[in-house]
Amino acid sequence: MKALVFDKLLRYEGEHPDPKPAAGEVLVRVRMAGICATDLEIIKGYMKFRGIPGHEFVGEVVSGSSKWKGKRVVGEINCVCGACDMCRGGLASHCRQRTVVGISGRDGAMAEYVVLPEQNLHEVPEVIPDEQAVFVEPLAAAMQVLKQCPIEPRMNVSVVGSGRLGLLAAQVLQSVRCRVEVVGRNPQTLAFCERHGIQTVDVKQLVPRGDRDVVVECTGEPQGLNLAMQMVRPRGVIVLKSTYAGGTSVDLAPLVIKEVTVMGSRCGPFREAIDLLARQQIDVATMISRTYRLEQGIEAFTAAGDPQNIKVLIRMY
Ligand SMILES: [Zn+2]
Ligand SMILES: [Zn+2]
Repeated sequence: MKALVFDKLLRYEGEHPDPKPAAGEVLVRVRMAGICATDLEIIKGYMKFRGIPGHEFVGEVVSGSSKWKGKRVVGEINCVCGACDMCRGGLASHCRQRTVVGISGRDGAMAEYVVLPEQNLHEVPEVIPDEQAVFVEPLAAAMQVLKQCPIEPRMNVSVVGSGRLGLLAAQVLQSVRCRVEVVGRNPQTLAFCERHGIQTVDVKQLVPRGDRDVVVECTGEPQGLNLAMQMVRPRGVIVLKSTYAGGTSVDLAPLVIKEVTVMGSRCGPFREAIDLLARQQIDVATMISRTYRLEQGIEAFTAAGDPQNIKVLIRMY
């Protein structure tokens, strides 16, 4: 099959071996995949991943049980053992034996085919086109903020970072009617927020006042956490969505002095993300800047790293 393969360098392979589903797994013919910040980190060495990247995708089940064959699906990315203390305790996404599609120990979806455990699948309703279905995974991750940190109307919430995840988080927060503002530096993505009635602040103009109830950190850079610590109010909450590849040295004293709660936040609820997209409550369509064919995958990655583009997609056929 055709695939993008990362092994110290990202390359396109016209003839990569087809994956073989194990017991309980299905073969999915990938239709589209999205490139996110994690993928850009992976090709710089994040998680020491080797293999086919790609964890945001939509495809069609082509083998496995009759329950799934022929269905258009998206897939949760944590592949779990079902037996460890985390799995038995209801925290399967933290399975101690897990592999993660296109991120850790398992090939991803930037290829013609990907295999996935049947239990990871979710059917995509007709009303969500392929271009939007690839956003289910990152939208679920954005919705996880609400799962971990109850947000009430009238709360002052800032999203720091106006990248792909920041724009999704801001829209999710707007849907629960809190007072949300986005702090960023990219005029294009800030304009996207303004078009959706979301307040924006250029980071160069920002004067942190230590008055935000919740700050959602989506910059991908340690300075983002520094800024979040200045913006949050005493006893407020910082939700950290960024993973800083290569580590960070940030002075954490403000967290102690202001008695701030910091929450790490990762994957989220697929079913709810699908519902939100089906109800057309989140604009993902105008976040798409470019779509490339799988054969142009290297070009697609370059484009995804260009701040001129918001979301870059790869079409398999
Ligand atoms: Zn992602
Ligand atoms: Zn487990």
